[in-house]
Amino acid sequence: MTKKQKKMIIRLSVSAVCLIGGILWEGSHPGDWVLFLASYLAAGYDIPLKALRNIRNGQVFDENFLMTAATFGAIAVGELEEAVAVMLFYQVGELFNDYAVNRSRKSITNLMDINPEYANVIREGKEEQVEPDEVEIGEIIAVKPGEKVPLDGVIVKGSSSLDTKALTGESVPVEVAEGEMIVSGSINLNGLLEVQVTKLFDDSTVAKILELVENASSRKAKAENFITRFARVYTPAVVGLALALALVPTVVFGQSWSVWVYRACSFLVVSCPCALVISVPLSFFGGLGAASKNGILMKGSNYLEAMGNLDTVVFDKTGTLTTGRFQVAAVNGADGSLRELGRGELLELAAYGEYHSNHPIAASVREAFEREGTGRTIDGDRIVSAEEIAGHGMHVRLVDGADKEKDIYIGNEKLMNRQGIQVSGIKEDGGTVLYLADEKGFLGSIVIADTVRVDVPDALRGLRAEGVKKLVMLTGDKEAVGKAVGERLGLDKVFGGLLPGDKVRKVEELLEEKPSDRTLAFVGDGINDAPVLARADVGIAMGGIGSDAAVEAADVVIMNDEPSKIVDGIRIARKTMGIVRQNIVFAIGVKVLVLILVACGMASMWAAVFGDVGVSILAILNAVRALNYRSGK
Ligand code: ADP
Ligand code: MG
Repeated sequence: MTKKQKKMIIRLSVSAVCLIGGILWEGSHPGDWVLFLASYLAAGYDIPLKALRNIRNGQVFDENFLMTAATFGAIAVGELEEAVAVMLFYQVGELFNDYAVNRSRKSITNLMDINPEYANVIREGKEEQVEPDEVEIGEIIAVKPGEKVPLDGVIVKGSSSLDTKALTGESVPVEVAEGEMIVSGSINLNGLLEVQVTKLFDDSTVAKILELVENASSRKAKAENFITRFARVYTPAVVGLALALALVPTVVFGQSWSVWVYRACSFLVVSCPCALVISVPLSFFGGLGAASKNGILMKGSNYLEAMGNLDTVVFDKTGTLTTGRFQVAAVNGADGSLRELGRGELLELAAYGEYHSNHPIAASVREAFEREGTGRTIDGDRIVSAEEIAGHGMHVRLVDGADKEKDIYIGNEKLMNRQGIQVSGIKEDGGTVLYLADEKGFLGSIVIADTVRVDVPDALRGLRAEGVKKLVMLTGDKEAVGKAVGERLGLDKVFGGLLPGDKVRKVEELLEEKPSDRTLAFVGDGINDAPVLARADVGIAMGGIGSDAAVEAADVVIMNDEPSKIVDGIRIARKTMGIVRQNIVFAIGVKVLVLILVACGMASMWAAVFGDVGVSILAILNAVRALNYRSGK
């Protein structure tokens, strides 16, 4: 509980005691109004002041104004006791709001408590504690057991297990050892690690996530915008009605002022739209929080809304449905080639070709070459230029002997066609085929096989169960390879051989085909598919950790690479939207009812304030539920 809240409790207790005293004293002692006045001031002396301040700032119809007008009006017609009660209950409601909002905000910031305070950098053999943003790329930092990893980097010494729960929602620690990448924001559980920093703090995983979470509230769901607009119209309208209620019967029909002013004031009490204005954003906030607790980062509540209404989910293949960790299944030389190369040499050239690419295929080729153990290493200085041709492969110029250079092409059939290279000796073996050529012609092919991520079948089943009608795969790989995977997984449609631009066009077609009131998500790994991620209603990136392109282009980032998290995302979205809808219907329903009763004189100001505060409290309690989501697994 904050200081402000404690102070408020004291004020409200004093106010309540005075109010009860006043009621007991009433009638028998002429001085009862002193107690009522004391009660009013204790509870709400600051409300009229705030109302004045806001009016001066051009903000007239806020709840402070409504409460001030209502209570002053009640006092004017001699209903001092009710004015006091209204103020007291209103403040109780506010206190409660404050508490609930604080609590859910805290649970999100706790969760986002990944911001490291310091880094132990090793400079000239000595350890120094510095701010994480003072560490340069390439410097070595020490991360001790129990410390937060302050920067992204590669382990150069030691091994340990890391707690990545705050990042991925995954509670099982991850084992890491020398040579492996680790990301900032995780907690080092046991071993001492020395880490070579690979990114400045501002580009680190932690900085990216924090930025994303901070900006999330600026992208609002339609329902949120609706509430803002609603409040803008509703409040002045009710004030106008209240004025009419006070003036028309009295001035036109000569009825009693005290009756109608009292009704108008009660009307004002109900007119405060706080239940909506607070509970709707709070629900979305809770939904976003529940998602991030589960390792799903959403860049705004509009995406939460869109996730709850998915009709079509389109997947990229490599790195998304499959792990993107290819095994080299076979290396085949070109048929009848006079320049026949051995397996090791082919792989070496391939590794040169892929040296500068960050495509999952490239990493696998480099690894395969290292594993081959020819004892040779790739000399990056030999590479004169490297060009990545999206959806095709790589073109690299290599230093070859004293002052000679040569071209290497590695990629798919399309790349060979584009370069006019004749291919031969291809054995498909069901895998993805990489073609390797130099400027003299075709050299050979490498067949690589990828494995489907383990939780993909579960994820697809879950998506269908959540009402997703169409599951589609788009791939830059050959149609046959895509179809084989697609059939095994039971996808509805597979489109292969697509360049990044084709993928955008396909997604546009699919956007046309789906019912217009439902949404389409594209799920990709951010490599070669950033444009599609941006084009879909919801762009979902896998492999959030470590892949900058994905985190930037996507609307939703799945931190731990598990496609089944999309199902959790949908469930969280549905739950949140359900809560929002309940709150809107409930709050507006009760208000309209109470307004009618008050206007007809069938409800007192007491009923009005209970209506208002009660609805707020219930709506907020309901909103807080959005934060609590447990994955079904
Ligand atoms: P997917 O849509 O399955 O994720 P991409 O669009 O990333 O595939 O790539 C499409 C195809 O382009 C790959 O299957 C591969 O044949 C070729 N390709 C792309 N980048 C490379 C690379 N760096 N090296 C070799 N081949 C590549
Ligand atoms: Mg891909």
